[in-house]
Amino acid sequence: MGSFFEFDKNIKKVADEACFECKKIFNKIEEVKEYNSQKVLKAFINNRVSESHFNQSTGYGYGDRGRDALDKIFAEIMNSEDALVRQDFASGTHAITVALFALLRPGDTVISASGIPYDTLQGAIGISKNHGSGTLIDFGIKYDQIELTEESKIDLQALKYKLKNNSIKLVILQRSCGYSERESLSINEIEKACKTVKEVSPNTLVFVDNCYGEFVEKLEPCAVGTDLIAGSLIKNPGGAIAPTGGYIAGKSELIEMCACRLTTAATGREIGCNPYGQRELYMGIYMAPMIVAEALKTAVFTALLFEKLGYETSPSFSSERHDIIQKIKMKNEQELIKFCQGIQCASPVDSFLTPEPWDMPGYDNKVIMAAGAFTLGSSIELSADAPLREPYTVFVQGGINFESAKIGILTAANNIMNIN
Ligand SMILES: *Cc1c(COP(=O)(O)O)cnc(C)c1O
Repeated sequence: MGSFFEFDKNIKKVADEACFECKKIFNKIEEVKEYNSQKVLKAFINNRVSESHFNQSTGYGYGDRGRDALDKIFAEIMNSEDALVRQDFASGTHAITVALFALLRPGDTVISASGIPYDTLQGAIGISKNHGSGTLIDFGIKYDQIELTEESKIDLQALKYKLKNNSIKLVILQRSCGYSERESLSINEIEKACKTVKEVSPNTLVFVDNCYGEFVEKLEPCAVGTDLIAGSLIKNPGGAIAPTGGYIAGKSELIEMCACRLTTAATGREIGCNPYGQRELYMGIYMAPMIVAEALKTAVFTALLFEKLGYETSPSFSSERHDIIQKIKMKNEQELIKFCQGIQCASPVDSFLTPEPWDMPGYDNKVIMAAGAFTLGSSIELSADAPLREPYTVFVQGGINFESAKIGILTAANNIMNIN
């Protein structure tokens, strides 16, 4: 290690051991990265990408070749028939919500088979205290939910029972644990759930919230029977370069419906310009398999370092990963705060700021967040956040350069040491 940063001797020693022991797992991460990098490269070549695809378009954006080719590239990468990649999606939640509104009609029932959905989606569905107006429920769509089993698995028996006894239009699965204590879903598990749904009720659609899951495994959910997926471009598939946006991928006829919801039933995907061009989205998806690998290495190293320091982690360092999130149980509130402040002060941007817990809209507890990122709110870049409540879990994710991110993690560890 260089000598630009000072750490406690013990932390340095444990970190060196951790780095050494991580090598085997890093090799596995590299193997997935190589597979996905080739998949992405092949999609670029198959779609004959050239510099002209990066050109700007204005007005209605008729015939924007860059937009149309990027849709095809994403479709190929996401193992799906078609895709809709747009900077007009303001966030992942927006892309997911467009997909849900595109597919559901008043009177339909939608069911979440992976327990309570991600916080912002609760608001969009209309099941949280903090929902706005125009939720799915406002529009006469019924919502139901199946809890995960104690082992964080999809309860296939309960799913079968619900499908047999009700008319269900759409089943939602959330691949990542998000900011909950559960484990994330593997592609294998998503495959089992898709099979179950199609066996019992062939007309029921399966939708996967793919946020944080892209490129963590070799296959994406559409390869194993999922009808539609959506995600954010300021997470994994934006490769830390896309400045904004989201995507939806899946069956052609469903993508058409999403395009009609995003713009209008009259225009669908034919309109939508890119006045700043889409070069960053192209570069982002090209870099994404590598960037996700860096984030995964950061997560594995973080887990092992903190396990060695006596902390409970999830996933544990050696377990298989299905998303980029690493959870660590801190011992108390003070450690939570010191951890996040450590991450912040070793960030490339806003390193001189000190995050403090605050009453964030939509949350019951105070929340602290560390994010010194090039893109505002980007969580593929090293970031950490935690609600100030038991069990004092801090959620760490991202890291677009393992060697730099490691300094952030070590600074956080060092900060906690200094309390004691
Ligand atoms: C990030 C995320 C979303 C969408 O979040 P945005 O902040 O709206 O981009 C949805 N589901 C999960 C599981 C997520 O991690």
